[in-house]
Amino acid sequence: MIGAAPRNAATAAAVAMLDFLLPRVCVACDRPTSVSDRGMVCGRCWSRIALLAKPQCARCGHPHLSGTCHFCVLLPPYVRSARSLCWVPDPTASRIVAALKYHGWGGVGRDIGERLARLSFPPDVLRERAVLVPVPLNATRERDRGYNQSLLIAEAVSPLWGIPVAAGLVMRIANTETQTRLTPGERSANIRNAFASPPDAQMSLRGKHLVLVDDVLTTGATLNECASVLFEAGARTISYLTFGRARSGTTA
Ligand SMILES: [Zn+2]
Ligand SMILES: [Zn+2]
Repeated sequence: MIGAAPRNAATAAAVAMLDFLLPRVCVACDRPTSVSDRGMVCGRCWSRIALLAKPQCARCGHPHLSGTCHFCVLLPPYVRSARSLCWVPDPTASRIVAALKYHGWGGVGRDIGERLARLSFPPDVLRERAVLVPVPLNATRERDRGYNQSLLIAEAVSPLWGIPVAAGLVMRIANTETQTRLTPGERSANIRNAFASPPDAQMSLRGKHLVLVDDVLTTGATLNECASVLFEAGARTISYLTFGRARSGTTA
């Protein structure tokens, strides 16, 4: 411990020197960041993402449509709420997601998590939400990427919400192909039976309101499949938290 402070001070000085010598650039737009920019994405990029407009459906978080919500019907009955920050695809939001998922900038997960933590949820969700559960990545992809981006986002939300992250409550038991180019029907079939909840995890989820975290909600196939596994394993309620949400009127 005695040597820790000087070493940390030296590290901080070295980082400050590097920042001075090598101006930081935004991982989404490659422009230099300004001194007021915290994190890895610049303020200009954050201001350009297309936020989901308000008012929103209290349950699914879609911008409010008059009458019956056409998006809620795509959520299983035990899914209490869903919230997302912005629409995808979108030039800026897609670059932020790409920096996190494909270009190795894991720190973007923290920037995203800090913004997701500020999204508003119904009062009962605020009271009840107990554990953050990142959607697991398939093992090969996680090994190639070096991290699960959903876990990084969940870990950033956790201290701000004051609830723990439990990454082992649901596991991927099949290596599915990437969902990116599949139709909604193909996505559901592709992901079916891809997840399981290990028996020793079931005590810690029983009766709880869990919040599943993913980078993007496209058709809901992956989140709905995870929610189904968690509900069958004993969770009482599940909510969803994602950075992006697909614009298509057929998705939720
Ligand atoms: Zn930028
Ligand atoms: Zn709705």
